[in-house]
Amino acid sequence: MKEDNWRKVLKRSITSAKVLSEKFGIPLEELEAVERNFKIRITPYYFSLIKEKDDPIYKQVVPDIRELENNDLFSDPLAEDKDSPVNNIVHRYPDRCLFLVSPTCACYCRFCTRSRKVGDPEKINMKYIDEGIEYIRKHTEIRDVVISGGDPFLLEDSKLDHILKKLRAIKHIEILRIGTRVPCVLPQRITPNLVKVLKKYHPLFINVHFNHPDELTPLAVKALGRLADAGIPLGNQTVLLKGVNDEPEVMKELMHRLLLARVKPYYIYQADMVDRTEHLRTSVQKGLEIIESLRGWTSGMAVPHFVIDAPEGGGKIPLLPEYVTRITDTEVIMRNYEGKIFQYSQPAHAKEELRKLQKPPCEIDIEQEFSLGSIIPEVKSSMQEQSRTIKSDKKQSGVTAK
Ligand SMILES: *Cc1c(COP(=O)(O)O)cnc(C)c1O
Ligand code: SF4
Repeated sequence: MKEDNWRKVLKRSITSAKVLSEKFGIPLEELEAVERNFKIRITPYYFSLIKEKDDPIYKQVVPDIRELENNDLFSDPLAEDKDSPVNNIVHRYPDRCLFLVSPTCACYCRFCTRSRKVGDPEKINMKYIDEGIEYIRKHTEIRDVVISGGDPFLLEDSKLDHILKKLRAIKHIEILRIGTRVPCVLPQRITPNLVKVLKKYHPLFINVHFNHPDELTPLAVKALGRLADAGIPLGNQTVLLKGVNDEPEVMKELMHRLLLARVKPYYIYQADMVDRTEHLRTSVQKGLEIIESLRGWTSGMAVPHFVIDAPEGGGKIPLLPEYVTRITDTEVIMRNYEGKIFQYSQPAHAKEELRKLQKPPCEIDIEQEFSLGSIIPEVKSSMQEQSRTIKSDKKQSGVTAK
């Protein structure tokens, strides 16, 4: 991979509706109408992975007429703009923040959560980078910065070097993370010089974004190997997409191929409620089914967390198939991956521990209501509050609580 080969590859990207219209026999007016909402860009490399119309690679990057039909979801499904104290920063969690450093991506994914901004240098504007760094410097509670965009790897090496250097110089910053889809859609970009820059800023983690086993080509695996050889721990974030990876067997193969490329599966995301992406969403049960088909049946290393990034800025919420069928102060009844039932006895002093946790009088059995195990006391009492309200609402509306 020559140092500047990637620029040439990127320049040859398909950005016009006309090319796609001719190639796949789609009416040009349709594509042009869709393109107005979210632009087209497909690297020639990623385009070459399409085997036929409507296959899992195609669905991720070629616009679909159905994008025009459903406009009743959200343009900002995670309410990021609400949690943005300064331009280019989303600060939602207590000790970490998201820092958008690049407006563009190598390919534009039709399901992108940030399609309202991505590809528009006015909306993710490089002139605010210093302001973002200043915010992070002032906020000493931030110990983890997730560098994203757009795609940070579309910046020049020198620009990225500059940003990483400034962030690394901030005393309270412990870890840096980069979120990128470049190893998947433009592996030529992972050059020796880029890796040399990245290596200087450890502990640095990279989360890549692969959605289908066909994306793990020899070229992509080589790019991932270069990053891993530089001592960068690699994670993967997959979006669950209808017709792309919504089959347990496909997901399992994807997770296995990622591990072979030294990438640890980190998250599977339930597709966000993004405008114009209704046709790509699946039911939440599909995600649970996939997790259930992985846990126990294959290496624990291959099992990511399944999360929903909650609308209105609730953050990532993990979902698990139900393994606990009963939990009391004396025992836990649970099932294993094969559905066999097991009993675990609590220690004798659990009663006392649990009494301290429960803020009496506890009207509702939280464990029963939520089927949850240990919960930190603050969260527990807030759940009790909510559950009381829910219960009294149910009573008022004539619905009997269980
Ligand atoms: C996803 C996300 C993070 C990082 O979350 P982790 O669960 O720590 O990976 C941080 N900030 C925002 C706004 C996010 O959406
Ligand atoms: S690479 Fe990521 S940010 Fe860019 S279009 Fe795809 S999903 Fe959106």
